[in-house]
Amino acid sequence: MKRVLRRSWLTFVVVIAFFGGMAFLIAETLLSASDWVDQAYNGHISGAGGLAQAGSITDRNGDTLAKTVNKERVYHEDKTTRKALLHVVGDNSLNISTAIQSRFRSELTGYSFIWGLNMPKSFRGGRDMQLTVDAKTCKAAYEALSNYDSGACVIYNYNTGEIICSVSVKAYDPNSPPKITKKNEDKYDGVYLDNVLSSTYTPGSIFKIVTAAAAIENIPGVMERKWYCSGKEDIGGGDVTCVGEHGTVNLEQAFGHSCNIVFAELAVELGPEKMNAMAKKMGIKAQFDISGVKTKQGVYSIKNINKNQLAWSGVGQYTDQVNPTQMAILCGAIAKGGKYTKPYIISGESGSILSDLGLSAAGSEGGELVKPSTAKVLQKLMRSAVVNDYGDDMFGGMKICAKTGTGETVKGDEEKNDGWMIGYCTDEDTPLAFACVCHSTDEYGYSSAGKIAKAAMLQARKSLKND
Ligand SMILES: [Zn+2]
Repeated sequence: MKRVLRRSWLTFVVVIAFFGGMAFLIAETLLSASDWVDQAYNGHISGAGGLAQAGSITDRNGDTLAKTVNKERVYHEDKTTRKALLHVVGDNSLNISTAIQSRFRSELTGYSFIWGLNMPKSFRGGRDMQLTVDAKTCKAAYEALSNYDSGACVIYNYNTGEIICSVSVKAYDPNSPPKITKKNEDKYDGVYLDNVLSSTYTPGSIFKIVTAAAAIENIPGVMERKWYCSGKEDIGGGDVTCVGEHGTVNLEQAFGHSCNIVFAELAVELGPEKMNAMAKKMGIKAQFDISGVKTKQGVYSIKNINKNQLAWSGVGQYTDQVNPTQMAILCGAIAKGGKYTKPYIISGESGSILSDLGLSAAGSEGGELVKPSTAKVLQKLMRSAVVNDYGDDMFGGMKICAKTGTGETVKGDEEKNDGWMIGYCTDEDTPLAFACVCHSTDEYGYSSAGKIAKAAMLQARKSLKND
């Protein structure tokens, strides 16, 4: 009897171990199969960062950005273009987590749970991917932007949602990813981050768009009002300084000259709740989904804010932070009269690839960021700023509405600027919204980001006309 009992116990333990093992294997296969595939011992697949069997990635015109030749991953033939598109496409190191190659490696290699890598070609999903970006525009933006320490430039079609340009600096050549050590880590600080999507900067005067919108909606007759700027004023118990002495100005002139005194006074008059409500409405605190990646949220904080801080928050200082893509979307909404079109970067034309990737339909309509009547006034203010303050010939005859900004930041003991230009074009054949930022520069927004915006927008027009 004792022996029988011992044997049944043994059988019981073996059976439990068997089913336990099976359960573990099934769970591992279901959850981690794609990680196994990419292990080094699967050299035939994992060569070139798991991309040895990956399909091609092309730009909107079919220009090849990445392809696999003899199990080697090959990037664009032009070095500047390779750097310009590094954060969009990615590299073999897969260190840029938001890049296409890092996020869609399985889809690019045609890996399937059932078939592994041996899926018959006719069954394979979209192994090749076409993007909405224009390589030439990205190159032009990179050439201008790479003169600065870091920054971002994004352009998108506010009617269709296609992202035409997405460039982040710092960047490196994907053909030779850097080995980052203690010695050179300063040089490559933040290099894996796509600043277009994942960074925020001090907005400076581009935030006056938000303050202007709040004033237009909450202060009756504000467009007819006059202010006096002497260059410096005590507002809310502390000094607010201006970029110049603007004398007597109305709101349109104050917006164009970027007068701090007027917008600081407006913020205090509006109060924290109305300012906060408008920042929220305009998407400063939102995260926008760009083909599966969420943009970094901006900051507008009124917690324990005093009047002088509120004044500075109204001119884009204090703790204000905004993201470049978010700003381009806001400009697109103003251009369209209130609602924005959702931007996307993976072309919906490559078959059913978007549904395969679990992404929502490209270019669908987003919510209202600006009240239509307010959008109309902002259109006028942004157009007037270009015509009267920046010079209308700046963009080679394109009809541009824009706002520049110079956010003051600190690097070590040094005072530096985040130079901005954001806006949109109203020409029918180039319905493009843009946001460009140069981080930690000594220049103002107009001279720094203005150059980037000009170079990128002029090339975008050229490219779209040849589409
Ligand atoms: Zn002023």
